[in-house]
Amino acid sequence: MSLLISNVGSLVTNDPALGEGPLGLLSDAAVVVEGDRVAWVGRAGDAPAADETVDAAGRALLPGFVDSHSHLVFAGDRTAEFNARMSGRAYSAGGIRTTVAATRAASDAELNANLTRYLAEMLRQGTTTVEVKSGYGLSTADEARSLRIAAGHTEETTYLGAHVVGPEFAEDPAGYVDLVTGEMLEACAPFAKWVDVFCERGAFDGDQARAVLTAGMAKGLAPRVHANQLSFGPGVQLAVELGAASADHCTHLTDQDVAALADGDTVATLLPGAEFSTRAPYPDARRLVDAGARVALSTDCNPGSSFTSSMPFCIAVAVREMGMTPDEAVHAATAGGAQALRRTDVGRITPGARADLQLLDAPSHVHLAYRPGVPLTAAVWQGGARKGGVRTV
Ligand SMILES: [Zn+2]
Repeated sequence: MSLLISNVGSLVTNDPALGEGPLGLLSDAAVVVEGDRVAWVGRAGDAPAADETVDAAGRALLPGFVDSHSHLVFAGDRTAEFNARMSGRAYSAGGIRTTVAATRAASDAELNANLTRYLAEMLRQGTTTVEVKSGYGLSTADEARSLRIAAGHTEETTYLGAHVVGPEFAEDPAGYVDLVTGEMLEACAPFAKWVDVFCERGAFDGDQARAVLTAGMAKGLAPRVHANQLSFGPGVQLAVELGAASADHCTHLTDQDVAALADGDTVATLLPGAEFSTRAPYPDARRLVDAGARVALSTDCNPGSSFTSSMPFCIAVAVREMGMTPDEAVHAATAGGAQALRRTDVGRITPGARADLQLLDAPSHVHLAYRPGVPLTAAVWQGGARKGGVRTV
């Protein structure tokens, strides 16, 4: 079966060879999907016939968002902590342990149901690729089951046994690193593509982070790093040195950190939901973009520090508060996320790419920032299949 989406007012291809600027923008465009792939992209008037036609009625068509950083295997929530924080208390990494207790106590079915619900929530807002981390189990059995459950939904699974030191090891952090790099890694590696570590005061220092990442790499996992979120530190430099796909947060950066990201292969993934939800200063996206670093935007969806599943929200904040142009923010939420996952088949609408598409109830992608908080997603296709749960075309 082939599908023609015609009368697209504004098409974001993310291929400069296909259209205008870095977004490869085409006006009065059309897209043909065959099976799970994009088969043709061009001017509406030149479009070949297809089995089925959808009239986009002049609206904007974009690649599905690629959310490259989330923590969606968990139980419980932290409403009380958020409420207290908004009444003046500072956020620290220790709150993670509250979710660890709830997650350990939950059944597999409960964790799976939660994950399914949050992924559906993301899909309704245009997100078609999601990375999911473990990190609320912090024991061999609970980390492994978190990843097993995540692997049932996405190929982008990340082992984050080194989220914080597990509660049983509060007095023996070195022993916990031994567990994370030994028995726990052994049990988790079969369900994980990536290895991650929270390199931060109160979590893991540079040497511990290096040990976690290199052990994971030796098991065939590719590295990504929670880096420089709450303070300056070694995370970004370590990520670049190890060739990590992504250094995530990048809120507190020295000039050397920025230069390393600009010169290296590592994407700077910015997570403005975390700063929003902790009333912290935002990362300076303008500085990174101007230096030549590649930037991704992601939700960091988690119950403690960023309980949003909305990429449009992150785009709006990045434009309003972090110095990004709407074009840059939309690129970071699509092609940028794909780069942060080292994927070339998503985050773009080009022949051969996966047919992950979103139609907006708006004439342009700029409306994602221009109309903050407004549900603009009109339709979503994932691998060429029209998904339910969104409004009709
Ligand atoms: Zn995170």
